[in-house]
Amino acid sequence: MNDDQELDPSLALTVAAVWRQSRISCPHPHLLQSYLQGGLQGGAKDFLQFHLRDSQCPYCHAVVEELRARDAAAASPVLDDLRDRLLRSTGVELRRGRA
Ligand SMILES: [Zn+2]
Repeated sequence: MNDDQELDPSLALTVAAVWRQSRISCPHPHLLQSYLQGGLQGGAKDFLQFHLRDSQCPYCHAVVEELRARDAAAASPVLDDLRDRLLRSTGVELRRGRA
């Protein structure tokens, strides 16, 4: 009568499958985005780490992939634009200083 010391792997698989099928506790996409940006702490962060890494929720992984792709697409034009504006304003200041 000592079999309760071992975790039944088939039970763990079942729990993960049920979780995946019903998406019982999927975090909101806004939470996923905060997690990606490092804006979550403590329990919320642990929960999302567990949800993404251990339960391997395909729905949330798809959302994360989409958020990452969107961030990557959005980040570079903004940086280029900022750099252009900085270069331009520096040039204007230099010309003004000489005139
Ligand atoms: Zn999920």
